Amino acid sequence: MEDRKLVYDYSREDLTPLFQEWNEPPYRVKQLWEGLYRHLWEDINDFTPFSIELRDRISQDFTFQAIHPVREIVSPDGETHKTLFYTRSGNPLETVLMHYKNRHTLCISSQSGCGMGCIFCATGQMGFKANLSCGEMIAQVLYYNRILAQDGQKLTNIVIMGMGEPLNNFDQTIKAIDFLNDPQGLNMGERRFTISTVGLVPQLNRFSEMNRQINLAISLHAADDDLRSKIIPINRKYPLSELMAACRKYSKVTHRRITFEWALIRDFNDDPGQAQKLVNLLKGLIAHVNLIPLNPTVLFPGKPPRSERITQFQQYLIKNHIPCTIRLRRGIDIQAGCGQLATKNLSEQNKLC
Ligand code: SF4
Repeated sequence: MEDRKLVYDYSREDLTPLFQEWNEPPYRVKQLWEGLYRHLWEDINDFTPFSIELRDRISQDFTFQAIHPVREIVSPDGETHKTLFYTRSGNPLETVLMHYKNRHTLCISSQSGCGMGCIFCATGQMGFKANLSCGEMIAQVLYYNRILAQDGQKLTNIVIMGMGEPLNNFDQTIKAIDFLNDPQGLNMGERRFTISTVGLVPQLNRFSEMNRQINLAISLHAADDDLRSKIIPINRKYPLSELMAACRKYSKVTHRRITFEWALIRDFNDDPGQAQKLVNLLKGLIAHVNLIPLNPTVLFPGKPPRSERITQFQQYLIKNHIPCTIRLRRGIDIQAGCGQLATKNLSEQNKLC
């Protein structure tokens, strides 16, 4: 395994004393940073403003290779592009780019696998492998920005909703957002980021106290504890009363809208009773609900509801003044749901063993 440090794990402030030690002027750090984040250079030899000695010096200590792609799939309509990467330690992670009108949204992973064990989720079925470092999260963004740059485009939004529970990798996730938001780098703007959590209450409270402009999405999926605990084990530790109290705190501190994700599963959580409980749960909150007809996975027998049932659920929420959209099940044909490509790849590898 590569033992050099990953350059994307270091801030400008971290790099400054090192460059000083090398008798390099402070503007060299700025040049390095701009090369990485503005010019999207990924090879030390691209850094032509640097002397060959400095380039050698940097590459002795640092690597630019955080993750490498092993499988790429683009949907037939070209709107969804998914990559399975491996980290330098050999852990899989997935990233999905979705184009919608002028928006280019990237769904990145914060962990390889996930320990939360949500039973409908392919990543949950895979188990936890490793936390990703801030640099490994950033590398997913830079990889896709390089692809988009070929057409003069760039990413407009980042959702941390791929593999893993970002609040279980809190510090690295926030650090990655801060680096990507640096005015001397990509300067994306906090409001373009969304952190999605299954509901880790202490971390959620910590996040609220930071009072950031980062968007919050909650993977809710059921509106009573009995039902939610059946598919989301962490609900037994942090039941809905505690989760919703944490959401209200976030709302009160930040005045920001919360998105609630609801994977609609046939004959499980698609009935009027659940819709009514959901309305009660969200009373008084600035909320938006995303309904996502279930993405089929190998180990969970659940199916998406029929279309009239999906529409009825949506209509009930709208009638009760809760904005609600049905998210297109994009990328089904390319296993774009979280963890699906990695589990497929792993099972194929297992078959080969
Ligand atoms: S839904 Fe999210 S939190 Fe749950 S297992 Fe999948 S990746 Fe982890």
